[in-house]
Amino acid sequence: MANLLWFRSDLRLLDHLPLTKACRQGSPLIPVYCLDPRHFAQTSFGFPKTGAFRGQFLLESLADLRQALQTEGSDLVIRRGQPEQVIPALAKKWEVSAVYAHEEVGTEEETVTHALRLALESLGVPLYTFWGHTLYHPQDLPFPIAKVPELFTRFRKQVEAESSIRDPLPIPNLPPLPQGLDPGPLPPLAELGLSLPARDPRARLVYTGGSAAAQARLHSYFWEQDRLRFYKETRNGMLDPNDGSRLSAWLALGCISPRTVYAEVSRYEQERVRNESTYWLVFELLWRDYFRLILAKHGRKLFRPSGLQGIPIAWQQNWPQFRQWCRGETGYPLVDSNMRELAATGFMSNRGRQNVASFLTKNLGIDWRMGAEWFESLLIDYDVASNYGNWNYSVGVGNDARGFRYFNIPKQSRDYDPKGEYLRHWLPELAGIPGDKIHEPYRLTASEQKQFGVHLGGTYPRPVVDLQKSLQINQQIYEAALAQG
Ligand SMILES: Cc1cc2nc3c(=O)[nH]c(=O)nc-3n(C[C@H](O)[C@H](O)[C@H](O)COP(=O)(O)OP(=O)(O)OC[C@H]3O[C@@H](n4cnc5c(N)ncnc54)[C@H](O)[C@@H]3O)c2cc1C
Repeated sequence: MANLLWFRSDLRLLDHLPLTKACRQGSPLIPVYCLDPRHFAQTSFGFPKTGAFRGQFLLESLADLRQALQTEGSDLVIRRGQPEQVIPALAKKWEVSAVYAHEEVGTEEETVTHALRLALESLGVPLYTFWGHTLYHPQDLPFPIAKVPELFTRFRKQVEAESSIRDPLPIPNLPPLPQGLDPGPLPPLAELGLSLPARDPRARLVYTGGSAAAQARLHSYFWEQDRLRFYKETRNGMLDPNDGSRLSAWLALGCISPRTVYAEVSRYEQERVRNESTYWLVFELLWRDYFRLILAKHGRKLFRPSGLQGIPIAWQQNWPQFRQWCRGETGYPLVDSNMRELAATGFMSNRGRQNVASFLTKNLGIDWRMGAEWFESLLIDYDVASNYGNWNYSVGVGNDARGFRYFNIPKQSRDYDPKGEYLRHWLPELAGIPGDKIHEPYRLTASEQKQFGVHLGGTYPRPVVDLQKSLQINQQIYEAALAQG
């Protein structure tokens, strides 16, 4: 008899409750990852569900996990196929007595868990699932998931006052694989139908998947570069990768757990400094918890065009404008630079994400789900709860919706990139525009354009919409929907 550990978005050995539980049984253990073809199909608007950046990061994470398992005397069994077919087949062949896994909250993920549970039931094999992606365990919260406060601040205050964070679990002693079980090859990216574009030299941080790289990033950001002490002041920066922790991709694939990050913050606070910045990193991790719990609470509602609030906004699916947004050709440098960074690297800062989401929905009036799916396709750090939760929130259909709030794009550009360095980095065609003028190239006169080497409508696009007029139109649409709702 053997036990089977099903890896999903939890590609690590440290702080892994299902692994710890499965290893306690003492029988041989089969650690499995299924490359599910559905993850490499298309989103509802026709984008690759997993783009090349995340695909590559996933394969690197699997290679790292396999190596870590091998070091511990085990291995990672890799199979291509749907978990609800692959795992029962393995269970049957290798006389598996129980399957262990982390619980997932996404609706697609839950459907797979349910299908697997049914398939295993028919074999008499139980599937044990455990919560494990958050800082706080739901059992330690002052409310059940069904009563998670709708407003983040209320959630945070209650949690901070009444709950505590568990210590990360150590790596357990791993039993070997059953003899004769072929772990199978890790396919190259091309076999998943993806190809990685040549590395863009403008990318300032190169992501490598896996727990080892996650620990290295944590060590570098906290200890070597000592940037955690300034996190609160720098976190809104867009150009320097050390403005933020940049841990999101490893957290999303579970190469590192939030509790491990928290334990390291606590150590840093003891050994270096405890200040507003160290608190703020944990505060941001709490946003991550909140969105996951909100998805667990509300399920499908998060994905409706009308969002959690059910505000029936008449969204447009204007493909020509949407493509201009995707390509970074809207004529608004802050939007364009961020969208080009995303396309070239698979990453965009939080400040950038908030602005481009606001522009897509408050200025272009385009269906936010198209934007969310574009992010889903491209982001290395895509996480269903954080992505769709933040989109709900940015668009104004989330559970805290408070009227028509939007980002003033040129003001944001001046506030968060005062010297225009980020804009010049990603929009070389605007590099000749001096000083403050770079934030609004559409105001340049014909002679200024000539002088600075820019040709509006030629080398750089004219604005796709008028900022003020488009806001007015979309505000009317929003308010009509609110009245209707
Ligand atoms: C429209 C939109 C879509 C987003 N989609 C995703 C997504 O798919 N995956 C994702 O991980 N984050 C998403 N975010 C949140 C945020 O932009 C990223 O987590 C952050 O930019 C990652 O950079 P960092 O690791 O340097 O973050 P830091 O500032 O260093 O924060 C530390 C960690 O806290 C978490 N975090 C920070 N901000 C948020 C937030 N607003 N919501 C949830 N968690 C947060 C992340 O895990 C992050 O790594 C989205 C935000 C917006 C506005």
